[in-house]
Amino acid sequence: MTESIVTVFRGPHQPDTDITAKLHALETLLVQAAAEFADIRLASSLAAEDNVLFDVVARLKLNISVFSLETGRLNAETLAVVPALQAKYGKAPTLVHPQAQAVEAYVSSHGQDAFYDSVELRKACCDVRKVEPLNRALLGAQAWITGQRRAQAATRKELPVREADETRGMVKFNPLSDWSEADIWTYIRRFAVPVNALHFEGYPSIGCQPCTRPVTLGEDIRAGRWWWEDPTLKECGLHAGNLNRITALKSV
Ligand code: SF4
Repeated sequence: MTESIVTVFRGPHQPDTDITAKLHALETLLVQAAAEFADIRLASSLAAEDNVLFDVVARLKLNISVFSLETGRLNAETLAVVPALQAKYGKAPTLVHPQAQAVEAYVSSHGQDAFYDSVELRKACCDVRKVEPLNRALLGAQAWITGQRRAQAATRKELPVREADETRGMVKFNPLSDWSEADIWTYIRRFAVPVNALHFEGYPSIGCQPCTRPVTLGEDIRAGRWWWEDPTLKECGLHAGNLNRITALKSV
């Protein structure tokens, strides 16, 4: 059954699904990607999907490095995932921080929470705290992996499993593209994967603390991210290709 874009977040409370075929496809894809690219990296937001990918990489002992963007505005619950992963797997994502000077310049020019004032100032904050650190974290890589899913948002409806990241000149994999929320939680229960405690408090998608709220009945599962903005424009620059696909669809 196809998961609706507009959905009720049931997350941890959903019944198990049969993920046999999807799990086989996921493991095959990651094994092949690790063989194809000598330097391939997983960008982990420390949310449920990325922890699933972290578990596969660890279980299959794949040569895929993992990093997380520590923006300086994350929730304590999100940061608590790092030692939880360390405790279970004996390793955790490398934390990548924004450049202190750039953060200071933004805060002194606009104020710490200026992202509420305009889309431009929000994107400028994401540039400093997320996009520049991501680009730095991917320097020298041939490919990278994300935990994005099609069912997460209007901007992700056409998300392919493999795409060209033209901005960064590398290949980008979205191996969970066709996984449902229920599939993710089935995997998490089966393999006892550590998860962010906020998922149990109505947060299906978790970003920086001041830019994320829980979702309510019937909302898009990324509705809690930058909830004051147009839902078809809500990407932070990490996944610019999603907006390009939406723009192309709107123009036909
Ligand atoms: S999500 Fe919010 S706090 Fe985090 S980098 Fe973007 S605008 Fe800044």
